[in-house]
Amino acid sequence: MISTSIYASPLYRLEKLSRRWGVDLWIKRDDLIPLWLGGNKVRKNVAILDAASKGGRKPEVLITNGGAESNHARVVALMGAQLGCEVHLVLHGDKPALSTRGNSFFYRSAGAATHYVDSEQIGPTIVRLERASLQDGRSVVVIPGGGHAVEGVEAYSNAVAELPTAPDYIVHASGTGGTQAGLLAGVEKLGWSTSVTGISVARAGQRGREEIIKLLPCSFPLDKIHFRDGYRFGGYERHSPELVSFIQSVIRDEGIPLDLTYTGKAMFGLRDLVRSGEIPPGSMVVFWHTGGLLNLTSMNL
Ligand SMILES: *Cc1c(COP(=O)(O)O)cnc(C)c1O
Repeated sequence: MISTSIYASPLYRLEKLSRRWGVDLWIKRDDLIPLWLGGNKVRKNVAILDAASKGGRKPEVLITNGGAESNHARVVALMGAQLGCEVHLVLHGDKPALSTRGNSFFYRSAGAATHYVDSEQIGPTIVRLERASLQDGRSVVVIPGGGHAVEGVEAYSNAVAELPTAPDYIVHASGTGGTQAGLLAGVEKLGWSTSVTGISVARAGQRGREEIIKLLPCSFPLDKIHFRDGYRFGGYERHSPELVSFIQSVIRDEGIPLDLTYTGKAMFGLRDLVRSGEIPPGSMVVFWHTGGLLNLTSMNL
């Protein structure tokens, strides 16, 4: 239904940072995937919808959940708009002001119905909305929050093959672990020795690792899971002046977008791993940019 071949994302070398940091640094621009303002939620949701539509009816209603400024909610809303689906977003958190918040501006503009609820009401609300649509005889796809599903993991596993050669390291922002599990599985499938390092944007190490492990086959070697929680800056959506000035220096050097919720923390973590020598000089590193620029617009800087 949606061509998956159109979204192989650009890969190129970050010349100045390579020189400055003493590594061979490349960037994989999933923020530039040309659908629904890009990011890792596009790969995941395309895969989920493809699987849900296989052999069945065209989806008429999409239901999902997420945070009030969720990239996932924006992608589902724009995808639904393009495909002519009715979209219901069950969101936790306060209803954001329309004028200033990037993701919510897009999902509301796209005509998605929004349901702001407390976290314990998320499940019951989804069930109620699904039931109502089914009673109307319509085909419904309930998409897990964050696109956290096996299809999303598969999408990232396949994405690794877009890299022309095996780098020494892949570093990226890691949240629920779906992207990281996919990248790990993809590297394994290709037989590469690439080390995949997820920089946690929210979860503590133990919890984050457990979630990644759940998404991988039982036989997966656990010592290959590198989930680093030392660059969270106090937790999800938290940041510091040091992080702000760091991302400004990268923007100045390379002209690339980084946000303070996801990719800024991942790039900060990467620089620290290079500085400490954990990533040795001369290593080939791919920074996998997962999108999220609109998260910047929900920050008060
Ligand atoms: C959701 C998201 C992530 C985290 O992806 P997971 O698969 O949940 O780990 C990283 N970066 C951006 C920009 C995101 O929107």
